[in-house]
Amino acid sequence: MAEPLTIEPVPATNSNSAVMATYARQAISFVRGEGSWLFTADGERYLDFGSGVAVNSLGHAHPHLVAALTGQASQLWHTSNIYRSPGQERLAQRLCAASFADRVFFCNSGTEACEGAIKTARRYHYANGNPERWRIITFEGAFHGRTLAALAAAANPKYLEGFGTPADGFDNIPLNDPEALAAAIGPQTAAIMIEPIIGEGGVRVVPAEMLQHLRQLCDEHGLLLIFDEVQTGVGRTGRLFAHEHAGVKPDIMAIAKGIGGGFPLGAFLATEKAASGMIAGTHGSTFGGNPLAMAVGNAVLDVVLTPGFLDEVTRKAARLRQSLAEIKDNSSGLVLEVRGNGLLTGLKLDPGIPAGDFVTAALAEHLLLIGAGDNVVRILPPLNIDEADIVEGAARISRTLAHFGGSSR
Ligand SMILES: *Cc1c(COP(=O)(O)O)cnc(C)c1O
Repeated sequence: MAEPLTIEPVPATNSNSAVMATYARQAISFVRGEGSWLFTADGERYLDFGSGVAVNSLGHAHPHLVAALTGQASQLWHTSNIYRSPGQERLAQRLCAASFADRVFFCNSGTEACEGAIKTARRYHYANGNPERWRIITFEGAFHGRTLAALAAAANPKYLEGFGTPADGFDNIPLNDPEALAAAIGPQTAAIMIEPIIGEGGVRVVPAEMLQHLRQLCDEHGLLLIFDEVQTGVGRTGRLFAHEHAGVKPDIMAIAKGIGGGFPLGAFLATEKAASGMIAGTHGSTFGGNPLAMAVGNAVLDVVLTPGFLDEVTRKAARLRQSLAEIKDNSSGLVLEVRGNGLLTGLKLDPGIPAGDFVTAALAEHLLLIGAGDNVVRILPPLNIDEADIVEGAARISRTLAHFGGSSR
């Protein structure tokens, strides 16, 4: 018989670790989570205002998700995509009923969802007799994940360095440059891809007018519009998908992070027309949409689609926003801006306070935050956080700011 499983607490630092050193990790680890709180092996508790980067959408150990996963775990883990999957059919049907989409492909991560979205756009033009239309217009400061095509799409020199010639097929242009945008559209253009809120790049909200303009351009030129909602999707902004705020529908959308609530799950969604090139044999994934992931994804939707849930997210976000505005006003100019939408919020800090230093200082207040580009600290609490915990987290942010000379009210 197997020995009972004992989990050794991980040493606080990753020096001498056999794990590849690709992350600059904080010197802390957690053994348990409950709601919006995480616990270390010695019982210290931390308020989670990061949700594992917008992943733990319903906090930790949500009873409905735990029941869905453990229930499925005792029935069936994997059967392969060579058989039909009732879990996939159900989750796909529900995602389509709640969105612009007619078809869904399930994968395991955000970057795979972005790759799949890109492939879908290219195959659409190929299947419609325009195989030369395969280039995708993307934007500076974007993040679409770490696979080679996703890196080429975002064109961040820091992430591309040392990995050879970036994959061809992407035209990366500045965000607020209508002339560059007009000039980038050519006879080879297949699609425009953008995050409705640029998350990793500093929680920069793309104005509704710009998203509407992109939709218009796509319609004029026969291009497909791809939204990367890997971070913004599944309730994060108080609507099921962030693009709903702008009243603009994409043709293709990538999601991941929040839909799995902590279980690895991604998907790309498309209209029937945009998905028309994705016929048998064009794409696949061994693990994508496996029964465990489908049980959890369906359970996340059970909660997020409960009538009133998204209104509560909006209400909580307003409460958080009010606290953050007060913190900014009392920060002696150290907080330059409060940004974002819903519970995808960022504080842009004075250049004298590197965002990474702020995140580390917040740990001393037992508060978990996430850094982002543009010297922004991201605040991404679980969507179902208690109002009392929002107030508590805001107080901890205020105390963190005091370390850097800002008043703590
Ligand atoms: C996190 C993220 C990705 C990549 O997701 P992974 O699961 O890490 O591959 C892609 N796009 C956006 C907008 C993201 O926030």
